[in-house]
Amino acid sequence: MPHRQSLSALNRMLATGGISSTEITTHFLDRIEQNQQLNAFVSVDREQTLAQAQQADHSRRNERNSNLKGLPVALKDIFCTQDLLTSCGSRILSNFVSPYDATVVERLDKDGFIVLGKTNMDEFAMGSSNESSYFGPVLNPWNTARVPGGSSGGSAAAVSARLAPAAIGTDTGGSIRQPAAFCGLTGLKPSYGRISRYGMVAYASSLDQAGPITQSAEDAALLLQTMAGFDSRDSTSLDTAVPDYLSALNTGLENVRLGIPKEFLDPSIDAEVLSAIETALEEFEKLGAKLVDIELPNSSAGIAAYYVIAPAEASSNLSKFDGVRYGHRTAEFSDLLDMYEKSRAEGFGDEVKRRILIGTYALSAGYYDAYYLKAQKVRRIIANDFSQAFKQCDLIAGPTTPSTAFPLGENLDDPVSMYLNDVFTVPVNLAGLPAISLPVGFDQSGLPIGLQLIGPYLKEANILSAAHSYQKVTDWHQRIPGDYE
Ligand code: GLN
Repeated sequence: MPHRQSLSALNRMLATGGISSTEITTHFLDRIEQNQQLNAFVSVDREQTLAQAQQADHSRRNERNSNLKGLPVALKDIFCTQDLLTSCGSRILSNFVSPYDATVVERLDKDGFIVLGKTNMDEFAMGSSNESSYFGPVLNPWNTARVPGGSSGGSAAAVSARLAPAAIGTDTGGSIRQPAAFCGLTGLKPSYGRISRYGMVAYASSLDQAGPITQSAEDAALLLQTMAGFDSRDSTSLDTAVPDYLSALNTGLENVRLGIPKEFLDPSIDAEVLSAIETALEEFEKLGAKLVDIELPNSSAGIAAYYVIAPAEASSNLSKFDGVRYGHRTAEFSDLLDMYEKSRAEGFGDEVKRRILIGTYALSAGYYDAYYLKAQKVRRIIANDFSQAFKQCDLIAGPTTPSTAFPLGENLDDPVSMYLNDVFTVPVNLAGLPAISLPVGFDQSGLPIGLQLIGPYLKEANILSAAHSYQKVTDWHQRIPGDYE
């Protein structure tokens, strides 16, 4: 059964001719059709996707082109695609088809990956529960009364229920790692600048980064290899060589110093999460890692700084959605201003409007210094804390989230408690660092728990190899929710 295989295993099976891309792709398309209750996908085009799989099989037979993998993946609906809708989870883009493909999409295509469909997400990637989507909430395959996390909730639910062998998400403040943690998956947020943002609908441009949501670190390395690299169309894309992530996977953990920030093991976080993290850290120690106590004294200010900076950038990025050039335009209006106002009022949901209001306020004359500039200073202090910490350790470890997946609806009326979910993930984006979440256990109600490993800038290979070492001796990452085995 292809859905019980990892992306890497499917890749090997394809290479030896044990299975065809058409067989794999058909199997996953069938599973997507049979599991629509999860609401993980916004658009799927079966015929077109199957045609691509047949083309991949054809090329593999005739051209012996090893690049043409024919591996299907799911794509968050934030990446522009010429062939499928790009809604970004919003009514305002609910009819938008992009005239070009995002660089990530081009790169996947070049290496022979096939897009199974576009996945549901929080509107404009704003959220931690996937409840702000215009297309309705996504359900967590481990327990459908729980959220899958957000904003890449559709991508995570799809991989968790094995509707796709892997998926692509984006992470501005935790949106790859938090849903990966809630759904029992491996989610990698690469360093800022490692992957091109061209054609990725912008939320907060100084924080946004694409990355893989997969079953394992090995699968994440496979996808990162394809996605990473310089792109002249993104001015923040980094022009440095991309290491060989796959061959670095087996570096091992011998003498790797794992820094444990005392701020991340706060007793206020869920006791079951804490105990799973402690058990996992013991496992890392057995594998040769050395645990060192470190401090990230200002990390608790991360949430406050992030929820000024991200909305500020969002308020500017989202001003282009005005009913003139893209997407939804109101049916009746008296003049241009009325058209703008009504189109935006109808097109954006409540959370997006809240962020635009906060961001516009924080950037306005008189408040700019007090809020935006202050938040930028805090950002620098948090980044400095990480630089200091990395003098004492090679990687930093702690929980990805303070709790396991919470019930649908629980935080909807309380944005601040929703925002607090990001307490361990947000500082990493503020500092532009790479980090991964990997599954390390379950709570008593059977919900997955994630451990976060943070690395110095551009050290994705070290993070991946540490996670891979752990996954070689544990099987948390291979668990599949009961209804989807
Ligand atoms: N939950 C955070 C927010 O709502 C992070 C979102 C993200 O990473 N895209 O901003």
